[in-house]
Amino acid sequence: MLLIGSHVSFRSGDQLVGSVKEAISYGSNTFMFYTGAPQNTKRCEIKEKLTNEALEIMKENGIDIKNVIVHAPYIINLANNENKEKYSFSISFLKEEIKRVEKFGVEKLVLHPGSYTTQNIDTGINNIINALNEIITPDQNVKICIETMAGKGTEVCFKLEHVKRILDGVKHGDKLMVCIDTCHLNDAGYDMKKFDEFLKEFDNVIGIEKIGCVHVNDSKNPIGAHKDRHENLGYGTIGFDSLINIIYNEKLQNVPKILETPYVCKEGGKDRSYAPYKFEIEEIRNKKFNNNLYKDIRDFYEK
Ligand code: FE
Ligand code: FE
Ligand code: ZN
Repeated sequence: MLLIGSHVSFRSGDQLVGSVKEAISYGSNTFMFYTGAPQNTKRCEIKEKLTNEALEIMKENGIDIKNVIVHAPYIINLANNENKEKYSFSISFLKEEIKRVEKFGVEKLVLHPGSYTTQNIDTGINNIINALNEIITPDQNVKICIETMAGKGTEVCFKLEHVKRILDGVKHGDKLMVCIDTCHLNDAGYDMKKFDEFLKEFDNVIGIEKIGCVHVNDSKNPIGAHKDRHENLGYGTIGFDSLINIIYNEKLQNVPKILETPYVCKEGGKDRSYAPYKFEIEEIRNKKFNNNLYKDIRDFYEK
């Protein structure tokens, strides 16, 4: 069965209940959320009552919590240890985040490996390994999924070899998986139009069974641009057919596919107001590109 969903919000008021309802409104059977704002580390207490209510709604709608993803906030940086305070904060935040994630019964936590900034790539990779060795406990249920990055600035893991070094360097490597992001891979220089070749390479370097999540995004930039700007499906340089080909790849059948495509602005506006996911998931299910996407979305939300 196709496992398709999107990034959804998580608010302190209704917590997972709100996230689930949003996912269902898009026609999803999985979803991804941050346990608070993606750009900060303020977190509220997880309320068991709301979690249980959400799990009940999920059951009624055929959503398995095992396919749901949590994304760690992106200001967490394990790759630089020159700023000691920030490095140790990142480590202790992730330890707490794993506990929060386990309260939901979620089993996959996506993590941006980080940027080495003032240091160098080898030091960066070692910093990540050392941090993960402090964070991971052998009895945790959660798998940390290292996300493949675009190579913007000093980001680590824009090459599969970087990811491999981390997987090999971490003591409890069985607690690590990989999240592949199609926009990031394109921007890193991997050709998503030749996905079978990419998968073969992935299998040789890392092992295909390590793919725990796929972020499905088109890219605003050409292959190898090292930019990381997501685009709606079929409106970027990867293209609709190539993305459909990835989504329906037999070897990734049981891996959740998550959309992180940009929200759509009001006509002539600049604020990204409308979630595109209901429409993009429909396109994916029909395997048919909607060349009227932006108009359809505005009509739907403004009617
Ligand atoms: Fe990400
Ligand atoms: Fe992503
Ligand atoms: Zn991105």
